[in-house]
Amino acid sequence: MASLFLSSLNLKNVIRGTALFSRFWDKILLVLGFLFLDLGFFEPGRSHRWMVFLILLLLWMALASKIYSIVAKREREIPWTLAGILVLILNIPLHLFAAYHSEIFLLNYLLVGFLSAYHGIPWGLFWGGLIWSAELLPGWFAQGDWNVPRSTSFEGVGLLLFILSIGWAIHWEREGSRKATREMAELDQQGKVLRNPFLTSLISPLQRLSKEERKKHLVGALYDLEARISRIMENLKQRLQVYSVAFYSIDPSSRKLYLRELFSDSEDIGVKGEVPIEGNLIGWVFRHQRPICLSESDRPLERLPHYKRDVGIHSFLAAPILNHGVPEGVLCVDARETRKFSEGDRILLEIEAERIVDALEYSKIRHQFKTDSEQLAALNEVSRILGSTLKMEEICKASLEAARSLIDYDFGLVALRQGETYAVRGAYGIEGIEGKIFSSREEGIVWKILSEHDRPFGVPNLKEIRKQRLVLSKEFPLGGVFSLLLVPLISQKEKIGGLVFMSSKPGAFTDFELHFFELLGHQVSMAMENAKIHQTVEEMAITDGLTGLYNHRHFKQLLEQEFRRVQRYQEPLSLILVDVDFFKKVNDQYGHPAGDALLRQMASLLRQQLRQVDFVARYGGEEFVLLLPKTDRRNCFELAERLRKRVEKEIFHYAGSQPGQGEIITFQVTVSLGCATFPQDASNPSELLERTDRALYAAKQSGRNRACEFHRLDRHTPFSESGLSVKA
Ligand code: GH3
Ligand code: MG
Ligand code: MG
Repeated sequence: MASLFLSSLNLKNVIRGTALFSRFWDKILLVLGFLFLDLGFFEPGRSHRWMVFLILLLLWMALASKIYSIVAKREREIPWTLAGILVLILNIPLHLFAAYHSEIFLLNYLLVGFLSAYHGIPWGLFWGGLIWSAELLPGWFAQGDWNVPRSTSFEGVGLLLFILSIGWAIHWEREGSRKATREMAELDQQGKVLRNPFLTSLISPLQRLSKEERKKHLVGALYDLEARISRIMENLKQRLQVYSVAFYSIDPSSRKLYLRELFSDSEDIGVKGEVPIEGNLIGWVFRHQRPICLSESDRPLERLPHYKRDVGIHSFLAAPILNHGVPEGVLCVDARETRKFSEGDRILLEIEAERIVDALEYSKIRHQFKTDSEQLAALNEVSRILGSTLKMEEICKASLEAARSLIDYDFGLVALRQGETYAVRGAYGIEGIEGKIFSSREEGIVWKILSEHDRPFGVPNLKEIRKQRLVLSKEFPLGGVFSLLLVPLISQKEKIGGLVFMSSKPGAFTDFELHFFELLGHQVSMAMENAKIHQTVEEMAITDGLTGLYNHRHFKQLLEQEFRRVQRYQEPLSLILVDVDFFKKVNDQYGHPAGDALLRQMASLLRQQLRQVDFVARYGGEEFVLLLPKTDRRNCFELAERLRKRVEKEIFHYAGSQPGQGEIITFQVTVSLGCATFPQDASNPSELLERTDRALYAAKQSGRNRACEFHRLDRHTPFSESGLSVKA
């Protein structure tokens, strides 16, 4: 502990350290704390100061670490150990200062009331009991007086009432919301028949595919279908004059039947859970896929699953609901009197069963159609948004935004692959992650899944599958994340990156999202590919194809741009024109390809010799231009001389067009250079260029393999082939 304090003056480190400490020791600390409290260790006059100090210190450290995990790791739950620490931190001082009969004790009511609301009444009673016993037990042990003082019993009763009333209030509140969830779940179950939404046209296509909208429209759609089926069954009940008409439907996932709709004169109706397809009449019809007609006169038939008790059914007629030969449910009628259903009744039942199939089928098709068209519309919107930009950063941002209107995620990011690593290029909800690079071997589970999967992958509950708690990395642990949705981005069969969505709710992303996000992933990949192509085209427009240097046109732009800048900051700007001497000879002697090779090597040589801030461009055939910001006459000329000597020494080589055949040709060349500097030699870009060119011309005229400065030329000599003299 001591070394911990000495070594880490940084508060964050202290808290991290205590987090490690508390994970193992907080429970022991709690037990010890309560034991000491009950034994009267903290009663006034009996405590050893340093021990009290140590225990309180440890408790505060444990509290800090708990709060750290809640705040920093976004853990949503309050652990029970934190509750205990809070109780101890409040009650130890109460005992130390004999203040548990003062108003401060009221804080205990608030604390325990809150805890019983949060963790439930039993926990409230537990903490309340500990607080109360700590008041009673030390006295018992110390004095052997086994009576409960009046004030202490009042406090106990007060605590108890507080816990119960707050606990119950919250309980009712929760029961209400649970009921609502159950009702939604029932609707969900019916929704298994038809999966998707009807959609309104007022909201955007993207929003129409959002989870809430889908749910809302699913409910609407179900009412519509339910109304159709109800009409069919009511009609059937009236025509056949029966006691009940029931429609059972199969739940494809559990392979059990559930009562979908019932019209009955009976008061005793109600199904408990789902009905198995074995061991009852309804299941028999479903399995055998044929109608059944039963009537008994002397004793009632076996109890049908839609009755709570035996209501004395004597006649039963049922038909399977077959959709293209596949059983989807059972339609049945029953009567209490003994009656023989006629052949006509059976045919009527079968016709009505077919009408139910039609209604289901119609609904399904309508849904499918609607969903498909809505998905298309949503994708159209996504591609419209993505297509509106050719910038990578904007595509990343737009894809996260498009996803936000579809799914409810807490954290999201777009990462682009670079070999074995992923670079985050856009993020939502995670501060400071943009620009960070993660290795696919990183501890975070996201990178592992992204590199292993080529199709969208969902993790409904992270806490169940991973041992280590890291989602992204140690720096970004995101402890509160439960669900993941990972969408790899594939372009021309190659993984170029991925979209990652995280939610702190378990099961936040469904199959629907997985399916739709596969389509979204394609759109994003396509947009990224376009952006890349655009970038390449843009680069091609400013570079020279042979040497990879900037071309003449772009050099002119750069010159204007740099000129404006140095003008503003009153800095010098120099130009050097470089021309290869007798270059035509190289072409003539070794051929054009050899000349090209020389130009390429010359380009890379020049580039290597320059600073980061300098520009080099191919000015013309075998002429290069160097643009040197913040460079004065002297430095410019020194550079020119250095380059000239460097080229003089360089051995250029050409290996022939077919590698392996023919020998390697080597040759040496020299260059002539012209220099001029702003502001001394010229007042605008074109003047500067023209003067540099004159200096180059002078270098050629004075024998080549030379560097000439404009300000040393004889100004009065006309700029012509014949008479340009150079000062010595
Ligand atoms: P000087 O010392 O006076 O500069 O002589 P030079 O032969 O270098 O000068 P000139 O300007 O007469 O010739 C340049 C030659 O460069 C002419 C042209 O055929 C050749 N050239 C221009 N562009 C290219 C190219 O891209 N590749 C090759 N191989 N040759 C080129
Ligand atoms: Mg030349
Ligand atoms: Mg030339």
